[in-house]
Order: sequence, then C-alpha cells, then structure tokens
Amino acid sequence: MPAGSLSPMMQQYHEAKRAAGDALLLFRMGDFYELFFDDAKIAARTLGIALTSRDKGDDPVPMAGFPYHQLDPYLAKIIAAGHRAAICEQVEDPKQAKGIVRREVTRIVTPGTLTDDSLLDPKTSNFLAALVLPAGSKADAAAAGLAWIDVSTGRFYAATFALDQVADQLARIEPAELLIGDDAPTPSPAWTNHDTITRRPAWTFGRTTAHEALTKHFGTKSLEGFGFAANDEGPVNLSMRAAGGILNYLAETQKASFAHIDRLIPYSIDERLAIDPATRRSLEIVATIRDGRRDGSLLGTLDRTVTSIGARLLADWLAAPLTNVAEINARLDAVGELVADANTCNQLRESLRQIYDMQRLLARVTTGRASPRDLAHIGCTLALLPKIKAKLTSRYSQLLTELEARVDLCADVRGPLELALVDDCPLTARDGGFIRAGYRADVDEYRELMAGGKQWMAQYQADECERTGITSMKVGFNSVFGYYLEVTNTHREKIPANYIRKQTLKNAERYITPELKEYEEKVLAAEDKLKSLELEVFSKLRDLVADAASRLQSTAAALAEIDVLAALAELARSRNYVRPSVVADPVLEIEAGRHPVLDITEPDGTFVPNDTHCAARGLGARDSGLGKDSSHVTDTSSHFPAPSPQSPAPGSFLLITGPNMAGKSTYIRQTALLTLMAQIGSFVPARRAVIGVADRIFARVGASDELSRGQSTFMVEMTETARILNTATPRSLVILDEIGRGTSTYDGLSLAWSIVEHIHDAIGCRTLFATHYHELTDLEEQRSGVRNFNVAVKEWDDQVVFLHQIVPGAAGKSYGIHVAQLAGVPRVVNDRAREVLEWLEAQHEAADGVAAKSFIAREGEAPAEPRRLNGSAGASTSRNGAATHWQMTLFGYEEHPLLEEIRTADLGGLNADEALRLVQDWQQRLTTDLVPAQR
Ligand code: ADP
Repeated sequence: MPAGSLSPMMQQYHEAKRAAGDALLLFRMGDFYELFFDDAKIAARTLGIALTSRDKGDDPVPMAGFPYHQLDPYLAKIIAAGHRAAICEQVEDPKQAKGIVRREVTRIVTPGTLTDDSLLDPKTSNFLAALVLPAGSKADAAAAGLAWIDVSTGRFYAATFALDQVADQLARIEPAELLIGDDAPTPSPAWTNHDTITRRPAWTFGRTTAHEALTKHFGTKSLEGFGFAANDEGPVNLSMRAAGGILNYLAETQKASFAHIDRLIPYSIDERLAIDPATRRSLEIVATIRDGRRDGSLLGTLDRTVTSIGARLLADWLAAPLTNVAEINARLDAVGELVADANTCNQLRESLRQIYDMQRLLARVTTGRASPRDLAHIGCTLALLPKIKAKLTSRYSQLLTELEARVDLCADVRGPLELALVDDCPLTARDGGFIRAGYRADVDEYRELMAGGKQWMAQYQADECERTGITSMKVGFNSVFGYYLEVTNTHREKIPANYIRKQTLKNAERYITPELKEYEEKVLAAEDKLKSLELEVFSKLRDLVADAASRLQSTAAALAEIDVLAALAELARSRNYVRPSVVADPVLEIEAGRHPVLDITEPDGTFVPNDTHCAARGLGARDSGLGKDSSHVTDTSSHFPAPSPQSPAPGSFLLITGPNMAGKSTYIRQTALLTLMAQIGSFVPARRAVIGVADRIFARVGASDELSRGQSTFMVEMTETARILNTATPRSLVILDEIGRGTSTYDGLSLAWSIVEHIHDAIGCRTLFATHYHELTDLEEQRSGVRNFNVAVKEWDDQVVFLHQIVPGAAGKSYGIHVAQLAGVPRVVNDRAREVLEWLEAQHEAADGVAAKSFIAREGEAPAEPRRLNGSAGASTSRNGAATHWQMTLFGYEEHPLLEEIRTADLGGLNADEALRLVQDWQQRLTTDLVPAQR
C-alpha cells in the first residue's frame, strides 16, 4: 500500500515494524498491545487470542491484541514458541500529544536478553552467546572466539578456544541464543540447536566496531585491564570481537543502560575438568536424558541451596568442575568446617533463605526496569548481611574467611532504602504510594492535602444532596471529565441551574459545577505533584543502587558461594557422605561407594554400595612423548601409591561383565559421578574415597538413540569412541557402557576388543568398561592392567536374583533369557530361545578355538593378522539342500557358501521355470543352514 494512502497511525506502525525486523511487533494502543497483519495471525495461533480485523471493508487488516497488564504471560508464550517480540510503547503522555501519540520500539525481547523475572527460571542461568569464527587461512584458523553473558545477572565472559573445544563449551554454556555473523558458515548441529541461532550483520563483530563497543561500555581505553592481552591480530582478538558483538546486539535490542555489566571476565579452561557434550548428556549432570529436565539429574538431586543465586552457581560448578587440587581442597575445607559446625551452617542457611535474587534485581535496576518493590527487596537483602557476615567471622578455612571479607554490608545503600520505602511496596512506580511517611516533608504535605481533598469532596456531596434534595446524588470520577455529580433521571427536575451537563447515561445524567472543577484542579495538581515527587525519590534511590552495582555484584557472588558451600555441607551431613581425599595421582580408591542419585531416590537402605579400585598405568605414550606405538609403553603403575600387601595391585582397566539389569551401568556411572562431585569440592556418598583428579571424563553408551540428530546410531557411537581414543590422556577417566553393541555381534566384539587393547596399551587411563561380550574377559590374561569384575547373581529354582554387588572375576552366564522371563516374555518364546542358544553355543565350540586365540596379541606384541578359520574347505554344500552349517570365527561368520554359488551361477541358459526353481532352492538352503529346524 503506498504510504500516502495509509492513516497516520498505520504509517507509524510500519515505521516501528521496520525497526522491529523479524520480531513480532506489539504496538501499544491505549490499554492494549495490538498486532497486525501476519504478526496478528501468528499471535492468534501462538497465544490463543481472537483474530479480528481493522478497517473492515475492501482491504481489512488482520489484528489481534491483549490488555497491557497481561504483557508478561504473553511474552513468555511468544518466546517459548521461538519468536522474538518488539515492544512499541507510547513514549509521550496522550494528554500532551499534539496529533497522534509518539510511539517507539523500546526494546526487542529475545530468548537471550530476558531480564524479567516472569520470563526466567530462577534456578537457571540464561546465556546469550556470540561465536566468531576465524577467516580462512590465518595461523589461528583452528581457533574460535566465544563470548557469553547472562544479561539478567551481568556475568560476562569471553575466551578463545580451539575449534574442537567449541562443542564442549557450547554444551556447558547452553546458550538460549547464539549470535553469529551473517557471513559465517552454519555451525555444525553438534555445536548447537539451530533454533537458537540469530544471524547478525558481520560488521557488528568487526574489529573496530567491537573494540569501540567494549571500550565505550566499560569506559576504558583498552581491554588489557581485563586480562585480555593484545595479540598479533591487534588489540582485539576473536573472543573480544564476540564480546563486542554481544554489546552491540544489546544496544540495538534493549535500548537501556547496562551498568550491572561491569566487567568482562577472561574464561580459562586450563583448570577445568573437560566434559564433552555426549558425556554431559550421558551422565545426566544438569538435565535428564529422557526429558531434559533438571529434576532427576545430578544437579536436581544434589541441590540443597536455599537461594536462586546459589542454585545457579551450583549448576555452574557442576558444569565445569575444577582440576586444581589446592582449589578443590579449599572448597572441601570450607564444606568440612560447615559439616562439623551444624549450628553455624543451619543459621547461615536460615538467613540466606530470606535473601532475594540480588543479581537479577540489580540487572533490573541498571536497565531501568526495576519497580519500587525490587528496590525494597535489595534493602531487605542488605539488612540480612550483618547476620551472615557475623556467622563467618573467625573461621578456620581460608575460603570462608575470604568470603566473609567479600560480603560488603553496603550500609550507605541499605540506610536510604530502609528509610524511604514502605514495607509492602507496589509493583509500579507510576502511581506512587511507596514512600514511607516521615521520609520527606513535602511528600507528607501533599498526601495530607489529597486526603483533605477527598474529605472536601465527601462534604461537598453531602452539602449538595441537602441543598438540592437529591438524596441519591453521588460524586464520581473518570479520566475524561474528571470529577462529576451523577443524578438519576427520577430527580431530573431538581437539578439546579448552575449544574453543567456533561454526559447522559441510560438512567442518569452527569454534571459538573464550577466549585467542583476548582477543587478538582487542586486535588489533581496535588496528586500529580505527589507522583512526581515520589518518582524523583525513586529515581534517586535507583541511582544510588546502580552506582553501587559493582559492590553489590561481588557481595551477591559471595552470598551465592556461601549458599553452595552450606548446601553441600547440609547434603553431606544428611546423607552421610565422606570427605574424599583428593590427590593429583590418577587413582581411584572408593570403599562402599553409592550412586549419588539412586542413593537419594531409591528407598533408604536398598542401594547396594560397591568398591572401586583403579589406577592409571602411569604416564603413557602421549604424555611421555613416545608416540602412540603401544610397544613403547612401559608399565609404570609402580609410580602410583603402592597397594597394601594384602590386596592385589589395582588395574587400570576394569572390565565388568554380568547380565542385563544387574547394575553394571549404575556402577560405572557412579564412579564418574563421584569423581565429578569430588572435583567440585563436594563430599561423596562412600565410606572412604581417594580420588585422583581427572583432566577429562568420558562417558559413552553403546548405540544410544541419536537418530534425531540424523546420524545412524552406530556412526554416533563410533564417532564418540573415536574422540575418546584420540583425546583421552593417562589422567582421564573413561566410562564405556556396552560399546560395540550397535553392530553385528562379531563385528562389535572385535571392535570392543581392539578398543580395550588400545586404551589399555596406548593410553593407560582409568577405564571402566561394562560389556556383555564375555569373550573380552580373556583379556585379563593378556593385559596386565585389565581386571575382570562381574555382578553377583543368585540362582535357585530357575530364578535369578541380582545382588547388585560387584565382585572380582568374569561373569559365568548372560542370564538374558532369565531377564526376558522376568520381564514377562511368554514361556514358549523363552524355551525356544534356550534351544537356539544351545545350538549357537555348539556351533561356537565347533569352531577352532585354538586358532581363534592364536591371533590375540599379547601385551607389547604387535597384533597378529586376523586370518580366516576353517576356510571354505570346512563348509561343504550340496544342491539337494542338506543342512551344512557354515562356520563362525571370532571375527564374524565365514561368508555363506551360497553367495559364491549365486555370484558364479550361469543364468544365460535357464528358462523362467528353471530360474524360479533355482531361487527357491537357494531360499530353502539359506533358511535350513542358518538355524536348527524347529521341533
Ligand atoms: P545393567 O547396566 O547391568 O543392565 P543397570 O545399571 O541399568 O543394569 O541397573 C539395573 C537396575 O538395577 C536399575 O534399575 C537400578 O536401579 C538397579 N541397581 C543397579 N545397581 C544397584 C545397586 N548397587 N543397588 C540397588 N539397585 C541397583
């Protein structure tokens, strides 16, 4: 439609829509937010609101809307549905407007820029991230710049990572929104969910633009003060370009000040436990695999924090555990002290329980979105600080002492807030009513005047009723005519001459009088004055808080840490945990360890504790610089603490066999989870634990269901396994669950076999491998670091009972058929399965076992060439279809002899009938050769 034919309102709309870009435009009209055109159709569908139309006629405009006070719940729905929303407000008082009210897009709400409490989960951080990939052939082409910020709290980080680290880091950060340049290649789906990506103009990440955005925001000349050294790229490296891109995006979408973002923190992964996305998922650290929820995950189960700032920090700690022994021990000391002093711990928790989310409150204050109630909540929180600080004085542990020092009482902020604000503050500043009586003389004065005005009004109504004899006359107020007198039609004759009629209703009429107007002006003027005085006080208080943002931020961070330490202490005490002895050597000595989640979720006393003894084989090929050739690796287990004379030396590779449902997965996961817990500084569910710090934890489950990512399950399984084989170090902890399951039995077994050999020989790291391939247990004889374990099973009367107890030695049987029986598989199917099993076992024994073992390489030897067993000579076939079983070898079935026959069959001379018979013959022999005939 040409602009000329549009109404002024619609012209204004189109202008705002241009500023909104692809966001749904919420256009404020009076008491409503309205959406038009396609936005209206989307909103009607997403929000379940009615779709109507404006300018009904030839060219109606689709329209949908909702009342302004319902903005929050509707915004939440818009964001949850994956849209963005641009809020276009009336930016001048309609009363003062000449012509059409001025409107502007005041902010664009996107998933990564939320600050409103109603749109955020209090226990979860909400990160906006930006990724800058290097251009082509630079020396650092293998690096990427990443920056991330939680706008709702102001925590802002940046780092440059090797490209192969990006997936791990994005999985840790889990950004709600990821900004990338419109010239950058589409990131791999393994990096991030594509729905979270927002493309931005490439120039917003440009060196100059980014540098300017950062230095302007922080008021500095350079960024070296934040610990970002200039490099050969100039003063701004990739990570800072990402950070600048973020600030640019915030400036464009939020149009607010961000004083709470007071520093850019360089993030280092050097002293963090590396956890890749597959491990994160598999160990269910912060979310469950099944439905991605926090409840049921390690985080959800262990979380005893009493504040949302603490809950978010605990999530951070679990997402990136430490590797520095001293730092871990500092946390353990603090937790230990609080475990020992239950009184102090409880009192601290009691005070903390009452504090508000100071980080998010501060963000709202500095972005100009705070309410009087938000300020009052900051005041209440500050009022609790003296008590908290007092509980932390004279502590033994270094960390608690440091935290005490970091709690800044901010009395200069607390005083005015407490004095100025009423106890029950309103949610908006606009209507006033939040200044405490006695705080300011002028506010009190106007309040009295207004109260007096109301009295005058009541008296005037009484006087007029008496003077006119209209007993039912009432004074009312509306925003159009102000104060009026309402007279019902029955009294119409009694209306005095000085009454001026303003409005006719069905049964009544409304009048004004000169006295009423005169008084109205006084009252309204007083009310206006009062509101503006209160607003003035409000904005002073807001500035006071904003100016102290840095001190308040670091106090809030200290409170969060105190909450987490006290929560870990509470957990340790209530669940009878033990302080792990955390050491640098890659060992694991766990006595009576329990799975931290099942220990809590299963009925008390039902979880069966288990021991784990494991030690890496010492610094292997990779660390010693010897290369990967396994023959160079010497067994250096003696490098680590010597085992006690009674117990055999622990292996590096624990191979756990046992029936399905026996508890293998639970056991190996438990080991990884206890290590992870120890590395965040938590006590662990065990009787005794020595935990050697791991540099990386890998957890893999065979053929997990990754079809949704568009890859075959086996491909995923092998890609993940490849990553372990290529990146694990002797200090890593590897948990493998049924690796090799995703392909045919012998294919899988041979892969599993060589994976065990490689991890044992070339890496030597602590590994727990749960498998149903019994054949692998032979490796204990071949490899010095391999130890067989199985899960104890009790059998009687054809029944099996799983004892969930890990015992040395290889499992005797699979019990798969027993499990099937327990699960209710019909008896006839189970009986038949037993028959097939017997037949298969007979087949297996028939194969030349001696030859099979001959190509199992001993430790230190190069593996012999696998060779075919029993060649084709061992399998004869006859055209009359007599069943002649073809042979199995350790590495798979021999090729079925029929294949060769089909390949070489001369079809040229056959008629259709003969060809059909030939195919029938093949078919018949194929089935009779494979399994024994059913009885
Ligand atoms: P597997 O990997 O051997 O198939 P899982 O580890 O999945 O077996 O465990 C099977 C079931 O046994 C789980 O439901 C778990 O709750 C229970 N379980 C496992 N280990 C224990 C234990 N140590 N004590 C009590 N129950 C256990």
